[in-house]
Amino acid sequence: MNSIDPMSFTAAAARLLAIDDSELIHRLLKFRLQHERLEIHGAINAREGLAMARELQPDVILLDIDMEDMNGFDVLTTLKNDPLTQDIAVIFISGTEEAMDKVRALDQGAVDFVSKPFEVVELKARVRTAIRSQRLMKMLAQKAQIDGLTGLWNRAYMNQRLAAEVDEARRHGQPLSMILCDIDRFKHHNDHFGHPFGDLVIERFAQILSSGRSSDVACRYGGEEFCVLLPSTTAVEAEEVANRYREQLEHITWNDHPGLVVTASFGVSEFGPGRETAETMLKAADTALYQAKQGGRNRVAVSSPA
Ligand code: GH3
Ligand code: MG
Ligand code: MG
Repeated sequence: MNSIDPMSFTAAAARLLAIDDSELIHRLLKFRLQHERLEIHGAINAREGLAMARELQPDVILLDIDMEDMNGFDVLTTLKNDPLTQDIAVIFISGTEEAMDKVRALDQGAVDFVSKPFEVVELKARVRTAIRSQRLMKMLAQKAQIDGLTGLWNRAYMNQRLAAEVDEARRHGQPLSMILCDIDRFKHHNDHFGHPFGDLVIERFAQILSSGRSSDVACRYGGEEFCVLLPSTTAVEAEEVANRYREQLEHITWNDHPGLVVTASFGVSEFGPGRETAETMLKAADTALYQAKQGGRNRVAVSSPA
């Protein structure tokens, strides 16, 4: 499943990177922070620090303002301009008490500012706070891409991911398929058995769609419409997968409504000539889905190559 586990954010030890040209600071941090749940790394100049930030993906960076090879503000700008490092929380450490330095650091995206000499207890508290907010931000960002009812990815994520997968398929010549799914006569089920039952159907169908390969990406595309992206999968293989989903839904016994059979229709498209963009792939799958509906529902239609 694609659901979020908030505990996974708190269980792992946080990673801290100190970028400072004073050896003394590194020894002090290692010694004084050794009992915190922290994995501590150090860089003794800006260039090394930037490389380590990209490599290690730390949760928090302690950044010295005055370094020989590059000043801390330029390091911060470089971190913020790089998608790989822009979300890392940065705490400035400075020898000055200059208010303007503090304002500038915070304006440029640092989360905090500590002046040397600092009390280690205070630094610890600030590091903890920075890590906590950074993890909450990450959780929120991820949550915004997840559908509340099913725990599947939502449409916004799907659109982003589809564009990325299409790029991959183009670059590496790997197959990529898509299955669009729509529950049949869903309005009827909702009207006859109630909205909560409709929700239950959506949840059960979502479970089926997320039971495939771990590389498959299942999304709730809209109300009772879903989309599954299948990297490294041809249309012929995707058709088999869709048929498996179709049968699994058809064979569910609904406790409160024995005898009721709920079905869905499926449209499959594969990246290739005439389907080389996200839009054309979606359109092809949508046309196939329409054919499946027209053909009598509870079936899979595959878009034939252009
Ligand atoms: P078809 O076989 O042609 O797909 O018919 P349909 O009735 O499934 O299609 P239609 O698109 O007309 O109806 C979809 C209905 O799904 C309309 C809406 O009330 C309902 N719906 C959308 N989102 C939700 C939801 O989150 N929960 C529930 N219970 N119903 C929803
Ligand atoms: Mg629909
Ligand atoms: Mg429907």
